[in-house]
Amino acid sequence: MAHHKVMVIGSGPAGDTAALYTARAGLQPHVFAGFGAGGPPGGQLMLTTEIENFPGFPNGGIAGPELMARMRQQAQDFGAEFEDVDVTKVDFSERPFKAWVGDDLHTADAVIISTGARSRLLNIEGEEKLISRGLHTCATCDGAFYRNKSMIVIGGGDTAMEEANFLTRFGEVNLVHRREEFRASNTMLERARKNTKIKWTLNEQPLGYLLRENGTVRGIKSKNTKTGEVSDITADGVFIAIGHIPNTDLFKGQLKMHDNGYLVTGAAAGGPSEYPNTYTSIEGVFASGDVQDHTYRQAITAAGSGCMAAIDAERWLAAQE
Ligand code: NDP
Repeated sequence: MAHHKVMVIGSGPAGDTAALYTARAGLQPHVFAGFGAGGPPGGQLMLTTEIENFPGFPNGGIAGPELMARMRQQAQDFGAEFEDVDVTKVDFSERPFKAWVGDDLHTADAVIISTGARSRLLNIEGEEKLISRGLHTCATCDGAFYRNKSMIVIGGGDTAMEEANFLTRFGEVNLVHRREEFRASNTMLERARKNTKIKWTLNEQPLGYLLRENGTVRGIKSKNTKTGEVSDITADGVFIAIGHIPNTDLFKGQLKMHDNGYLVTGAAAGGPSEYPNTYTSIEGVFASGDVQDHTYRQAITAAGSGCMAAIDAERWLAAQE
């Protein structure tokens, strides 16, 4: 068993920033860099290419994995300890708070949850088993497999636009969306519209996947939302870009959540003031980043809320002494 003053669960921009701030405050944070959802240490930015909107990186931005490596290094420089493992169970019912990695028990005086969110799937039976078998959730990770091939991108938000644009580096893209209107921002939509390698298939709701004899995905079965007609849309590979789900399974039954699964923080969770804060429904457990933010979901807002969680945790710990 190991005891820590502060335990950080998750290591995206929120977790790494919380680690940096608590490390500089002398709280020797222990960071579980995986988080119980099977994603990569470093979070969603590990699955992206250039980040053009993180302040401080002019002339084209910085690659996601590089930004995460730098954030981690900076936290480690001040003594934060990183462990590339997923927490498998937590118990926040009494102090010190408990977290397990398999049979390995860790306790802590304060916890900062920064487990982020993951890609939403279509909710079709057996879908998860098709991932990396012609079905993908990350264009930057898997796009290169489709050089001179055809791809379907499903979705109508910024992620779908970004992924579709990126994938045209490799081949033709058919963007399939269930409406004619888009959730994507004008900038991203216009950029995609100007890309002649993107074909638009609108008013189509995917119903299932078409499989080759070897079990890999060769397209989707889709229903036209206006006419009701069902048809096959084929391609060499399919990329899903239909939003995200918060990684909160680990905390079910322990922390207050919104209906959509995101953690409730601040005054609504019983925090000390109306002013935005990172308190969860259990005092001493704080949450930052996408796991509690379904509105902004940006690397910079996640990092900002990681900083807030660290300051909240530091002040709360000082008040306990
Ligand atoms: P969004 O929730 O914005 O969009 C999801 C899209 O998927 C919608 O068009 C939705 O359709 C569609 N969809 C959802 N469920 C299904 C389903 N079951 N079947 C078919 N289609 C479905 O998610 P994003 O991931 O695109 O974006 C999330 C946030 O991240 C946004 O705030 C976005 O601005 C931000 N972002 C910013 C980027 C940047 O600035 N570089 C890049 C990527 C994301 P419908 O519209 O009909 O509901």
